[in-house]
Formats: sequence, structure tokens, C-alpha cells
Amino acid sequence: MNNPEGLNRPEAMPAPVVAPINEVMFAAAAEGRLSVQRCVRCGAHRYPPAEGCYRCGGLDWAWSDLPGTGTVYSYTWIPDRGRDGRLYNVAVVDVDGTEGDPVRVLANVVDAWCQGEIVVGQRVEMIPVPFGDRLALPGFRRLQ
Ligand SMILES: [Zn+2]
Repeated sequence: MNNPEGLNRPEAMPAPVVAPINEVMFAAAAEGRLSVQRCVRCGAHRYPPAEGCYRCGGLDWAWSDLPGTGTVYSYTWIPDRGRDGRLYNVAVVDVDGTEGDPVRVLANVVDAWCQGEIVVGQRVEMIPVPFGDRLALPGFRRLQ
């Protein structure tokens, strides 16, 4: 997977496996939308994509666009061997606008380059991290 210009991403990260259950999510991310599954029966949102609802067991679901904003729940910094040990981060982002248990997305905060530039509670918004043909991973950037 290429490292798009200006985004703090590890150099050699492989592209995700695209499957029928996640392709719509990656296509939405490429358009700047954070779309996750929502249970048709009980309304619970969930991520990552899964066939069944954790809350009611329902198997019917639809894609649901969220606001795309969220809060850093946790994070860590990792040295990237492909970039001479330059640090990148992996963050767990608690996203806004969901029903049910918190929806937490594992992603990079791509505009944070140094330790101290992210804290727990940092507000962030989704930004596409392109890969493949008109697909993107949901990444995040910091809000004030
Ligand atoms: Zn449900």
C-alpha cells in the first residue's frame, strides 16, 4: 500500500482485503463518508463489519452514514522500519452518532507526526486514506 503524500502512514502496510461485506464501507470512505453497519431490527451500529448483530442477533443490516467525527479513546506510537524508524500512530477512535455500544474504529491519526500530538479525548474527523481503485480506509485528522 502506498503512503499518500502528507499522511503519516507506515510505508509497507498491506492493503486491506476487500470483500462483499466491507467494500461499500471502503467506497464510502473514498468519498469522505464514514459508513458502518446498522442492525435493521434494533438499530445498533457496529464496526468492523460482521454478519450478525451483537445486541439482538438480527441478521438484517444496512449501511449507515455517521457524522465522521469522534474522540480518541486510546492510541500508541510505533516506529516504522520502512521509514528509518519514523513514528506513526494507531488510534482507537470512539465515533459519534451511534446507537448501542460505542463504535470504535482502529485507524491512524494521519496528521499527527510526533508523540504529544495526540491525547486521549482528542476530537478528530474522518479523512480518506486511498488504496486500490476508488477505495479508502477511514483515517482521522485532528480537530481543534
Ligand atoms: Zn440488532
